[in-house]
Amino acid sequence: MEVLNLIQGKLLSATSGEWIDLTDPSKGKVYGRLPRSGTEDVNLAVESANKAFKSWSATPPGERAACLNRLADLVSKNAQLLSRSESTDNGKPISLAAAVDIPRAEKNLRFYASAIQHFASESHAMEGEAINYTLRKPLGVVACISPWNLPLYLFTWKIAPALASGNCVVAKPSEITPVTAYLLSTWVKEAGFPDGVLNIIHGLGAEVGDALVRHPKIAAVSFTGGTATGAHIASVTAPRFKKLSLELGGKNAAIIFDDCDFENALATTMRSSFANQGQICLCGSRILVEKSIYTRFRDALVSKAKKMKVGDPMDPKTKTGAVVSKEHRDKIIDYITLAREEGGTVLCGGNKTTPENQPGLVGGYYVEPTIIEGLKYDCEVNQKEIFGPVVTIQPFETEEEAVSIANSTEYGLAATVWTNDLKRAHRVAAELETGICWVNCWLLRDLRTPFGGVKNSGVGREGGFDALRFFTESQNVCIKL
Ligand code: NAD
Repeated sequence: MEVLNLIQGKLLSATSGEWIDLTDPSKGKVYGRLPRSGTEDVNLAVESANKAFKSWSATPPGERAACLNRLADLVSKNAQLLSRSESTDNGKPISLAAAVDIPRAEKNLRFYASAIQHFASESHAMEGEAINYTLRKPLGVVACISPWNLPLYLFTWKIAPALASGNCVVAKPSEITPVTAYLLSTWVKEAGFPDGVLNIIHGLGAEVGDALVRHPKIAAVSFTGGTATGAHIASVTAPRFKKLSLELGGKNAAIIFDDCDFENALATTMRSSFANQGQICLCGSRILVEKSIYTRFRDALVSKAKKMKVGDPMDPKTKTGAVVSKEHRDKIIDYITLAREEGGTVLCGGNKTTPENQPGLVGGYYVEPTIIEGLKYDCEVNQKEIFGPVVTIQPFETEEEAVSIANSTEYGLAATVWTNDLKRAHRVAAELETGICWVNCWLLRDLRTPFGGVKNSGVGREGGFDALRFFTESQNVCIKL
């Protein structure tokens, strides 16, 4: 597998000629390489995007939408290849890539192809004196930087609104999972995008990513990734007055009251804990259960988690695959060790593992689904993002206590509340310091809704017209009557 950059409509290796290994985490084996791009490649990509901007920004929204829809058609036509590639690159079960990642990538492109044609701006009449109207202008060349956990899903979530609103894009996928973005780049011309409108460059975050966000011609940065990286990007871009959208880490709580639909709460909490090996920013990693049902809920959850076996991500029956890399696997295991040191009891899992009877996968990076109890709410394991198949479980006695524990971390991305008391659902949702609150469900997404976090989980909102507002600058035009 050889990944290449897309610059000015051409597929290119890095100017330096250097490469980075691409590893299949299910086997722990190198299976390809990607360009180790740097400043020179960024300069070429930004120059090419800048050249294309005048014409693309003047292209009618309907024509831009047609390009996005044709790209969506190509994603749909190549869905099997993309699902296989996403699974190989990331370690996620192919069933998940085929059911969630790839269909959602297609949907993102179609959603913004449609949204741009319904995007309207305001007008303010000054009685008998003047009329004001707002122009929404594309920004110019923008950077879209995405992480490894939902590679094509989050990549398209950024480039679709950026392109729809008339910007030219230099996008940088994660160096850990670049393959599906590369495949997409091979179809950009066929979809009808003029050369230079969408450029995709690969390489290390600290090298090519850093050069990209610093480039003087980059007007805005849309970033999804870790909080520390987000803070660094903010420190680099703020003095340059670039527009910035940051979707960062989380430490989400699932709050389970004793009047909930027990079976539904249990089944969904299993998913919200362990889907994608717990590597979804929206996973609920702190499970808070009302004392009266704590033991019953805990035992049922542990019993289900013990039955979850890691498997070959390529096997369509596998529900739990590999975590993304050796470094990430080791970080997860270190947190489990820390949990023991902090006084926690590992109720199930807790170890590295490999799929049974699969000699070809012994070098892969697998972690058993792990549930830990007995930890204080403010210990490190309950405060830091682990981003793996590891959850903690703790009892609470009152609604106030549950809310206070849920709000105790530096993060504020999402929360899940399980209750059949409607008044309580509204009350608790309003008290939670999060950008998203699900009641009696999880990961139910309407793409029109605002998406993002508060506190150290981010700044700004993606989704719906919010993303189109981010990728445009408003200008008031005042006309004297
Ligand atoms: P990361 O911050 O290490 O990397 C994200 C991207 O930023 C990658 O493409 C990387 O190459 C690039 N990057 C790294 N350093 C950079 C720099 N100095 N300048 C510019 N770009 C740089 O994050 P990750 O490990 O890939 O992803 C996991 C994190 O992403 C978790 O914290 C998770 O919670 C978060 N995440 C958040 C959301 C959300 O919507 N809030 C969604 C998914 C993942």
